[in-house]
Amino acid sequence: MGLKWLGDQLWMTVDPLTTFIETSAPCEAAAVAVDATLPELRKHLGLGETKVRWFLPSGNGTTAGRHSFEGDLGLQGKCHGNAPSTVWIRADLGALDAAEVLGHELLHAKHYADYIAGVAEMPDGDAGEQAALAYGHSVRQALLD
Ligand SMILES: [Zn+2]
Repeated sequence: MGLKWLGDQLWMTVDPLTTFIETSAPCEAAAVAVDATLPELRKHLGLGETKVRWFLPSGNGTTAGRHSFEGDLGLQGKCHGNAPSTVWIRADLGALDAAEVLGHELLHAKHYADYIAGVAEMPDGDAGEQAALAYGHSVRQALLD
């Protein structure tokens, strides 16, 4: 854990950054859940072809030379704003968590795609994140119901 000085005698732990690397071997239950959920979510959100790629912290069974990016140690998903037709999901999640992260990242993808197409403004950082959290949660609930 890193420590960040925030003022007079106030210290708070912050997530350190780490490097994540693509892997082609996600948890099988997660891969099945994502494959089963993706077509319906794409349709619901009006997204075109969307590719799911998987990542793990580097040094954790990952392959050198693959795509990599930095993020908080606890990162579970990622959608790069300049490439919203791909969403990234952490490969060691279980089925429900992976499906929730898929929904979360697809809503970010939708916001980016609409912005790039010029049909909508990007939501404020916090509003976009809250919407993505809610959408991901609704995907998890739908699978539980
Ligand atoms: Zn998010």
